[in-house]
Amino acid sequence: MKTRIHLVVAAIVLISTAAFAQSTGAAASADKDRPITALPYTPSLDLSSMDKSADPCVDFYQYTCGGWMKNNPIPPDQASWSVYGKLAQDNQRFLWGILEDLAKKTTGRTPVQQQLGDYFAACMDEPAIEKLGASPLKSQLDAIAAIKTKKELSALLAQQHLSNATEGLFFNFGSNQDFADANQVIAFAEAGGLGLPDRDYYTKTDDKSKEIRDKYLAHVQRMLQTLGDSPEVAKNEAATIMRIENALAQASLTRVEQRDPHNLFHKMDRNGLKKLTPDFDWDTYLKTVGVGGVDAFNITEPKFYQELEKQLQSNSLDDIKVYLRWHVVTANAPYLSSAFVKENFDFYSHTLRGLEQLPPRWKRCVRLVDRELGEALGQEFVRRTFGDGTKKDALQMTRQIEQAMHDDIDQLTWMGPETKKQALEKLHGVVNKIGYPDKWRDYGSVVVRRDDFLGNVQRSVAFESHRQLNKIGKPLDRGEWGMTPPTVNAYYNGQMNDINFPAGVLQPPLYDPKLDDAPNYGNTGGTIGHELTHGFDDEGRQFDAKGNLRDWWTKDDSAQFEKRAQCVVDQYAQYVVVDDIKINSKLTEGEDVADLGGLILAYVAWQVQTKGQKLENRDGFTPDQRFFIGYAQWACENQRPENLRANAITDPHSPGKYRVNGLVINMPEFQSAFGCKAGQPMVRENRCRVW
Ligand SMILES: [Zn+2]
Repeated sequence: MKTRIHLVVAAIVLISTAAFAQSTGAAASADKDRPITALPYTPSLDLSSMDKSADPCVDFYQYTCGGWMKNNPIPPDQASWSVYGKLAQDNQRFLWGILEDLAKKTTGRTPVQQQLGDYFAACMDEPAIEKLGASPLKSQLDAIAAIKTKKELSALLAQQHLSNATEGLFFNFGSNQDFADANQVIAFAEAGGLGLPDRDYYTKTDDKSKEIRDKYLAHVQRMLQTLGDSPEVAKNEAATIMRIENALAQASLTRVEQRDPHNLFHKMDRNGLKKLTPDFDWDTYLKTVGVGGVDAFNITEPKFYQELEKQLQSNSLDDIKVYLRWHVVTANAPYLSSAFVKENFDFYSHTLRGLEQLPPRWKRCVRLVDRELGEALGQEFVRRTFGDGTKKDALQMTRQIEQAMHDDIDQLTWMGPETKKQALEKLHGVVNKIGYPDKWRDYGSVVVRRDDFLGNVQRSVAFESHRQLNKIGKPLDRGEWGMTPPTVNAYYNGQMNDINFPAGVLQPPLYDPKLDDAPNYGNTGGTIGHELTHGFDDEGRQFDAKGNLRDWWTKDDSAQFEKRAQCVVDQYAQYVVVDDIKINSKLTEGEDVADLGGLILAYVAWQVQTKGQKLENRDGFTPDQRFFIGYAQWACENQRPENLRANAITDPHSPGKYRVNGLVINMPEFQSAFGCKAGQPMVRENRCRVW
């Protein structure tokens, strides 16, 4: 099973799913690529990234990022290119050096270093992988072929769920905090079963969507042919697979519907679960995944499970096997020989995201080790890159921004005293996690072999599956992290009520200890404010200080919030993503509200931090101008049209341009910093403000 980035986790940028899986083809020319032993320095305010010929009052994004966009074309192995993406690649090259070194050594390694080195070595051994073809998958495919009755499906699915990192095998099963009691971890049965990235890919009726479905069918067919099926057989199989997936997609919630946690909370006991899907042998399934005694479940989408029951009943066992065989091969294609890797890349990365070239193998292997043994690799990263000074400074900035939010809530005119009391309690309950976890995850039980690449992947996936399931019924570990330390991203988790800033994101050009406060408060301060605001966006505000789904708002205050958030929703609904596709601003609402609130809070915190100091102009810019330029430069990016199109459906974040321009038009501080006049594009008449 695959740990889903759960809905109540809101990050600053899109988390690219299945990093290893979304890659392949003729490997990008890796000749110039070498590991690095020190991270390169780029200042958090970079004059060469600007386009001073643009007017900041007309298009601030072009003004601050025009140079960057011109100087940084999208590499052929990337779907987009951004300041975040570039830093992530630098981190990967740094990790590459560590892993290459650990892979070469055979003595003097700690047990953890041995796991890391051997995992990487097995992944890099392309000749061995090539020679094996599809054979590492044989036992799994044989197990599917061997079942004789539908009753045997539950044991089979349980086995496959444990060791495959996919959401595609009919449904998802794992654990999470009980929405009603955040201290309890219960079983979660979620929707899944699709091969395309979202249910909308099946339901949309426009020409482009139909074209993508046709290409998907052709891809499924080719992949099954790669497995040895004849073209005619594979074509029929693809149609069967599409029919089942389509039925599951129609019964799945949209991403906007999923933003309301009430739509995803249906607590049941085992009998309730059995009633939804009487044809599925849950007792055997639960026993096989190792949680035979569990009796509390959240069925996030009951309607989906009713449809699952229909599919299990109405399809022949042979058709169900066709569907399962496809999902096992597509989930593992990136770990097989080049024919599988290439076919997987051609559809998921090239067709859907526009990539021109398969990322080089080293990059795919670094991403995989980060995904599977992330806190082991993270220890090596932190030891070499992350100092106590940065941790201390980031924590201080966080506390200042929390104080700014405290003062903001305190003086709000639209919120009544009862709601304020609860809001402040929630704010003070936020746990700040900076850099890396206090306690490192122990991967000691994962068997890693230098000559068994797919086996390593499946054993590490199974380790994670069991780790998730073992949490059920145990005390909640509030120290856990949902991102690995080298990650260039940050998140807020509404059920944990914590904000998390991995070491990977607290580096230049995002956090720059060499520069003064203005760009740092604009950039990293804005991100801290962003994550904090998520606790109070359309989704986060429905959870209380302890992380329980509980309405702590008076009716009036709730209506006041909705009204203010609607201003942001209406604003972003006007923006074009690509071609004729506009932002689905009900999907991006939480992120857009967090962007705006975050920068307002960061601005206040910066004022406090620099109070009494005489701030000077630098490079011809006032301190206020440098605050806003520093902010905007985190978001410099270039995007492929295919990627924009996919993100319009799947990504809750607006494109970078609107995360800058759509935000500054709402801030009077920006207007005065650049002397913009009323009526200019970067000045909005009726400004939105939520927090
Ligand atoms: Zn966010």
